[in-house]
Amino acid sequence: MIRIQKGTKDVLPSESHKWHFIEDKIRKIALDFGLKEIRTPTFEATELFVRGVGETTDIVNKEMYTFMDKGGRSVTLKPEGTAGAARSFIENSLDAAPQPTKMYYITPVFRYERPQSGRLREHHQFGVEFMGSPSPLADAEVIVIAKTLFDRLGINNLELNVNSIGCPQCRKKYNEVLKEYLESNKASYCETCKERMNKNPLRALDCKEKTCVDLNKKAPVVLDYLCDKCLNHHKELLDILDYIGIDFKVNPYIVRGLDYYTRTVFEFVSNNIGAQGTVCGGGRYDNLVESMGGKSVPAVGFGMGLERLIMVAENCGVSLGEEETPLLYVAPLGKEQYKEAFKIIHNLRQKGVSCETDYMDRSLKAQMKYADKKGYRFVLVLGENEIKQNKAMLKDMKNSGGDKEISLDDIEKYLI
Ligand code: ATP
Ligand code: MG
Repeated sequence: MIRIQKGTKDVLPSESHKWHFIEDKIRKIALDFGLKEIRTPTFEATELFVRGVGETTDIVNKEMYTFMDKGGRSVTLKPEGTAGAARSFIENSLDAAPQPTKMYYITPVFRYERPQSGRLREHHQFGVEFMGSPSPLADAEVIVIAKTLFDRLGINNLELNVNSIGCPQCRKKYNEVLKEYLESNKASYCETCKERMNKNPLRALDCKEKTCVDLNKKAPVVLDYLCDKCLNHHKELLDILDYIGIDFKVNPYIVRGLDYYTRTVFEFVSNNIGAQGTVCGGGRYDNLVESMGGKSVPAVGFGMGLERLIMVAENCGVSLGEEETPLLYVAPLGKEQYKEAFKIIHNLRQKGVSCETDYMDRSLKAQMKYADKKGYRFVLVLGENEIKQNKAMLKDMKNSGGDKEISLDDIEKYLI
């Protein structure tokens, strides 16, 4: 037997309703916030991610699904959503339309990681990209979008952590002092962090090794090194969040794993799904579009892991909708009634009524058991007499007193 690939998951027919439930909430939020969906390809030129995500990131260094296609091009399965969206934004001159451009996506994401709870090799993200506005209002709105989804799902135990990692100018100074701190503790840091110290010291703050995490708690904090403009942006954002009553914690140690962030970075973290607790991560990336060959376009966004979101929801007992079953089950008594039953459901479906019949040659008793187990609301029993008289019993499975004899010509009228 061929088995599923490590780190990938099937969504079985009995679970897909949870995904639909979340996706429906996302699409309604998109409407409420004026976001339009963007769908970009599953694979792109490898170069896009190397440039867009950053050469010193874990994603580009270790996690990409990269291969040569038959034409000798190096292509990569998308390891995140922003680079593709930014490429499309530039390539299609989306900035020619009145700004801002507010987009969202729901996409599979591929990363070659060590599979564990909450960490897959193919996962799915709901992402938002708010392009064209440098205002902290845009940062606030993006945060509120994520928060609104949690609220509407009834998830209220996520902590919002906010930080600013400044701009390339003020980060330069910070990188120096951080590097000094890291170097002075070099012996105790992990091998990967030792490498990070030279190439991109900020990355060390994102390390998940216990010893590094502990050492990082004493590292100098970036907030102390922000330039006036970055500090004002940060303060304004916090002020807006305060003003509309969004709880948050300023956490000077979150830096995010991607190279393109500037100023605001934020995470929504859960403490009830184990070590992989970050459900949503995002921030501002004012230099990304320009660094990818576009104009200078400020932007802010997030990526939210939907598998982790589902884990959080289930761990705190939040319902993600129910499996859906068609409204009506038409039960033919015997072989002679099969075609008639099939015609009835055919006609009802033309009218938009959801219905099914027996495809398994079952006895009436077995059909009734089946209909009950599957949760059909109504069952119509069809025998020889019923067809002759053009009338049949409509059973209401939720209300035994609600059974009634109805005409086969206008079944749909009774299905309420
Ligand atoms: P982590 O620190 O957990 O590796 P990350 O910083 O790599 O996360 P992002 O690139 O910001 O994550 O992705 C956004 C969100 O996507 C994460 O907050 C998480 O919910 C989800 N995510 C990231 N990687 C995985 C994965 N391998 N499996 C499942 N979900 C993931
Ligand atoms: Mg990661």
